[in-house]
This record gives sequence, structure tokens and C-alpha cells, in this order.
Amino acid sequence: MRKESFEFLKKLVAAPSPSGYEQPAQRVFRDYVAPFAEISTDVIGNAIAFHKGGGKGLPRVMLIGHSDEIGFQVKYIDDNGFIYFGPIGGVDPHLLPGQRVNIHGRNGAFLGVIGKKPIHLMEPKDRETVVKLESQYIDIGASGRKEAEQLVRIGDAVTFSWGLEKLHGDRVTSRGFDDKAGSFVVAEVMRRVAEAAKKPLIDLYGVSSVQEEVGLRGGVTSSYSVNPDIGICVEVDFSTDQPDVERKHNGEVGLGKGPILPRGANINPALFELLADTAARKKIPVQFTGIPKASGTDANVMQISRGGVATALVKIPLRYMHTPVEVLSLADLENAVKLLTETLYRIKDKGGFIPV
Ligand SMILES: [Zn+2]
Repeated sequence: MRKESFEFLKKLVAAPSPSGYEQPAQRVFRDYVAPFAEISTDVIGNAIAFHKGGGKGLPRVMLIGHSDEIGFQVKYIDDNGFIYFGPIGGVDPHLLPGQRVNIHGRNGAFLGVIGKKPIHLMEPKDRETVVKLESQYIDIGASGRKEAEQLVRIGDAVTFSWGLEKLHGDRVTSRGFDDKAGSFVVAEVMRRVAEAAKKPLIDLYGVSSVQEEVGLRGGVTSSYSVNPDIGICVEVDFSTDQPDVERKHNGEVGLGKGPILPRGANINPALFELLADTAARKKIPVQFTGIPKASGTDANVMQISRGGVATALVKIPLRYMHTPVEVLSLADLENAVKLLTETLYRIKDKGGFIPV
């Protein structure tokens, strides 16, 4: 991966963006995309990049990846200055005790830790159960409520404090790859198309969406306003090459084996075939899964926006989803960028996607 792209990915995942509080990550997206696309932001916070194709009345194609990540929200501060919080999105309470977190206050981010009763003091039965999220608390070092309130406001967002680090080979770990990996791929495709010698025969919109983790909300408004003929959602997917995830239900997909192309009700058959055929022709590795119902992604709301959109999903294999140590392969990101860019150049008109 080129150095500038890697630095962009690193900055994007480091920027805090729990659902409803995404603008720090959106600013990173907008700054990166601005030199090669027209960029706008809608009232809910979606960042929409636009690249005009070579002609008039071209099909409108929309790519979407969500910038929001899971996190927490400050709900209550007790008399001793301990901070109680609720989840933003699908948070696993197993993970939290002993973690370092950043609270994003009005004067910037500061560190806190999620406290825990020492194991010595725990009853044997308590060692086998999870501490409920509402009983967990953040310690910012404040000596009391008043001191804490000088830094923290009710409603402030909280994130795990981990950013991107390299593992062995081309594998990297971070919080928030779900789905800033998708936003990253969308931005990179916009760049590749803008830098190419030939203009594609489509009008291309690249959306870094918001509030996906709390109900696909940015996907609804951006699909409506962009009004695409064709839409491709870039998301992460469960990599089943970790020891404790079974393959019979989730399919056999692994890191470094290419992006995943699902089939099923949420996927337009002709658009799937176009992606799969492009992968075969260009020798881009891909993996296949089945999703027999509406997917839990922005592709769902995009497909049923207005009169319907020819929709597909391109998914990046990811281990340990919704933990602060998500792991992916950089090659999978690059192959997703390549596959999408090559596929876009094969779209010539909006016909051909209506099932017969
Ligand atoms: Zn996601």
C-alpha cells in the first residue's frame, strides 16, 4: 500500500467517530478526498464526494462505507467523580473492564480507565459472570463530581483509546475498522478514478456515511439524496479463520484471500455477476458468501430507497469485530479498491440490472 494511503487509513481510524459524533473522522475523509472530488456534507453528517463522468445523462453510481464506530456515551457522574456510561452500537460488556478509553469533551479528548474490582475481592461465582455494562464505570482521576464536571458533560462520547498498529506481514489491528475500512476503500476508489487517464461513463458518488451502527440512518438519507441507479456498499464481514467462529453458518472466509462478494435478496444478481466476472478477468482474489435476507448494512436501505436501487456488497474480512483489536489484511483493502475501480469502468448504462 502506498505510504500516503496507509497514513490516511491510520488517521481515519484514530479519529473518534462513535455514531452521532462522527465529524472528526469525516473531516479526515473530506480533507483526503477534497483534491480529487467535489465534496459536500448533509445535515445528518454524511460526507458525499462526487466525480463527474465523461458524458451527459450517465448512470448514477453510489459507493458507501460508514464512518461511525461503536463507542459509549456518558450518562451519569457520581459524587466521587466516577462516570457511568451506556453503549453506542453493539458493545460487548466482556471487553470493557481494564480498558483505557478516551472521553471526547468540549475541550478535546482525555484519558480514562474502566475500573474493576480486584480478583482477590471477588466471590467465586462472580468470576464466572460478566459485570453488567450499567455497573461499569470510568475513572478519569477526578477526586469528586465537581472536578469531573469541569471536564465531562453528560452526553459526551467515549471510545477505546487504541489506534492502528502493524502486526506481522500485511495484517494490522485497530478499533473502528468497522467500517472505516469501508470509508477508506470508498475514498481510494474516488482517487483512483479521478487520477485515471480515462473518465468512466458514470457519475460517481462516494459516501462516507454516519449512524450505521444505530440503525443505518445515514444510509437512508444519503441514498435518498444521491438517488443512485446502482449502489455498492463496502463493509466488513466476519472472517471465519479465527478459532472460535464456526463456518457452517458464516461461510468459509479468511484474511488475505480477497474481498467477499455475498449473494442473496439484498444483492442485485446482474451487479453481483459483473463484480465476480471482473474479479475473474482481472485475477483479483475474491471470496463468496450467502446472505439470504436483508443484510444488516447500508446496502439494505440503499436497495429499497425510492423505487429501488441495483445494489451489491463488497466486504472486507475482519477478525474480532466490535472489539478494540479488530484485525484485517491490507491486501484485502487494496483488492477491494481494485475490484471496484475496474468494475465501475465496465458500467455503461443503467439498463441490464432489472431481473428478467
Ligand atoms: Zn459496519
